[in-house]
Amino acid sequence: MTAEQIREHDAMTCRACGNEERASEGYPCVDCGTFICVVCNMKGVVRCRECQAKQGAGAPNASA
Ligand SMILES: [Zn+2]
Ligand SMILES: [Zn+2]
Repeated sequence: MTAEQIREHDAMTCRACGNEERASEGYPCVDCGTFICVVCNMKGVVRCRECQAKQGAGAPNASA
């Protein structure tokens, strides 16, 4: 089996938009610390998609 251990570019998958961006230019999600790319950060996105959904939804049982 061939393991891809060689990574010349430090690309990581943004958990907000799903694009692969440079990890060194990205930011961590303020809630869980996962990778958010600089493009999303410039748009004001500071949370990953999952955390953003939690923030937007709030408590599920709150609004019944
Ligand atoms: Zn992104
Ligand atoms: Zn998150």
